[in-house]
Formats: sequence, structure tokens, C-alpha cells
Amino acid sequence: MKSLRKDYYNPFFSHIYVEKEVLDHPRTKRILDRFPKAEIILIDHYKDVFCRRGQNFILQQRARSLILGAKQGNLIYKGAPVCQSFGNEHFYYTSCVMNCIYDCEYCYLKGMYPSGNMVVFVNLEDLFDVVRERLKEHAVYLCISYDTDLLAMEHTTGYVKEWIAFAEEQRKLQDQESLKIEIRTKSADSSFWQRHSPSPGIIYAITLSPQTVIDAWEHQTPSLHQRIASAREAIQRGFALRLCFDPMIYCKDWETQYGEMLRQVSAGIDMKKVEDVSVGTFRVSQDYLKKMRKNQPDSAVVQFPYINDGGVYHYSDELTGRMEGFLVDRLKREIPEEKIFLWEKESQ
Ligand code: SF4
Repeated sequence: MKSLRKDYYNPFFSHIYVEKEVLDHPRTKRILDRFPKAEIILIDHYKDVFCRRGQNFILQQRARSLILGAKQGNLIYKGAPVCQSFGNEHFYYTSCVMNCIYDCEYCYLKGMYPSGNMVVFVNLEDLFDVVRERLKEHAVYLCISYDTDLLAMEHTTGYVKEWIAFAEEQRKLQDQESLKIEIRTKSADSSFWQRHSPSPGIIYAITLSPQTVIDAWEHQTPSLHQRIASAREAIQRGFALRLCFDPMIYCKDWETQYGEMLRQVSAGIDMKKVEDVSVGTFRVSQDYLKKMRKNQPDSAVVQFPYINDGGVYHYSDELTGRMEGFLVDRLKREIPEEKIFLWEKESQ
């Protein structure tokens, strides 16, 4: 398959499937306007396409179709045990987009979804309503960019801008910061920081990896240099920034690679102005890893002999301790310890 010419595949989003019910939705129209040459196919339900049996995630990912639909049923979820809550009591996440324009080999989405196509839910207003209801009960910490990279899709959806407006509206209404939103990204689009202003309650979480890890496993993502430059600009412009060294990925000379990455990060970013950092080695549920391994038989990162511990695969405790300990020790030289969040299974 690797020998096929690049132009063998359809360009991204050359085909867009649209649920009939949302065809006239303003967000559907806005998104379709961005793809005037796309072939539009009307469908009853996004699952008719996204959840078909026998799809090949990896092949579809090379020629992604877009599916526009309405999210129904449960619209926000309790944070998963493999994710960090950063000390927030009421930790939720939501998926207004499913799948990602990037292609990280270790990404759990390859084990979670039956399809490599992307789904964008256009009924954000229903998600906002659910969050409003939850805010009547308690403060909410909401991650909106877990099952995708929302910032990398901003030119297509404009959803980050809409979430910012929603957060600001809530802040004015509640007269306090009861809503905290995390937007996790590997995007390095500096123009975003130029087009927007910092907003209290929104934290941008930029994931950083050594360049060797990016080259080997984070396909189509911006380089470390680009991510650092973007993070620097965000901080200079006053945006709240979290740096995520998560997942740390084992490679032969990981100490050298992660040491060099930190050297570049502290040379490029004013660490005193970073909101906080997260550290965690790769971990994934056993069900997802099973499918990831089936989908990517030649991938060293998913075929690694991880340890299965209560349904979660991870590195051995000894290797986890060495890798996380190494990074935390280095980070402590740059940032107060209370700002370093280490993922620990026991704490969940
Ligand atoms: S950027 Fe995140 S969501 Fe996107 S493919 Fe990589 S790990 Fe998955």
C-alpha cells in the first residue's frame, strides 16, 4: 500500500456526507461553503457512514471524507480515568468533532472509532445547553479537544471561536469563573493568537514531543520548533498556556531526546509564565490497543510489549518511573513543583 502514488487517493473532504436533518443548519452551510468542489451526499444518520462494518481506518485516513451531523444522546461525558483532571472536581469532556486531521500512530482514536473519516457535529447549541444546565449545579472543567484537534480544524469549523464566545457569555452571567475549558492541540497556527484575545477560563494545552518522536510517530503534525514558536507567541500575547509532555513515548535514546526537547522548550518559552505542565507516559485501554495493533501491524509504537494492568496498557512501572521522574526532575528546575501534574493511576 505504501508504494501507491500520493495522488492515488481523493483529496481530503472531496466527499461530504450530510445528515438531511442538518442540511439547512447555519453551521452546515458555513462549513460546506469552504468546500465548493466537494461532492455532497445526503444521509439519514452519520452512523450509516461512520459506523459501517468492515471499514479500513488507515486507508480512509489517507483520503478522509467529512460527515456533518447532529450529536444526540449523551452530549458531555465524565473525564476518563486515563486522563488528567488537573485538580478539578467536576471534570468532563465533550466531542463536537470525531477524529483528527493529524495522524499520530499511537493515537487511541485508531482503536476507538470504526472509521478514519471525520464527523463534525453542527448542533453546538445543544452542547452549550447541557453545559449551562451543569453549571447550575456546580463548576465545570470541560475538555473540548480530546477526540480531535479542534484548533487544527479551526479554519474549517470556527468552533474554538464559538466556545470562547460561550465561555465569555457564561462568565458575565455567573460573575465568576465557574467554567474552565481546556483546548488541547498540536497545532502551531500562530495566526490564531493574532486573531483572538485571551479569555479567562480558557486554557490552551500544547502537546510537545521530541523531534525524533514527531518524525517517527506524529505524522503530519507541526515540528517541535513550530510548536514552541506558537507557544511563545501565545504566552507573549497573554493566553493561558499548559504544556503537555504527555504522552511520553519510549525510544532507544529517550533520555537524550527528551533532555534536548526540554532544552529547546526552556530556551524558547518563558516557563515562568506557563500556567502549568502535565507529564505522563503512554497508556491506553486494552480494547483500543487491540484494534490499534490490528490496524498497524508494522508500527513499533503500538506493537511495543506494554504491560496490561487492570485493562490499561502502559510501560513497566520501572520504565514509567524512570521516564516520568527524569522529566519531572528537569521541569522542577524551571517551574514550581505545584504546577507539575503527573498522571497517576492510583489518584483516579
Ligand atoms: S493530534 Fe491528538 S487527536 Fe490528533 S492524531 Fe495526534 S494524538 Fe490523535
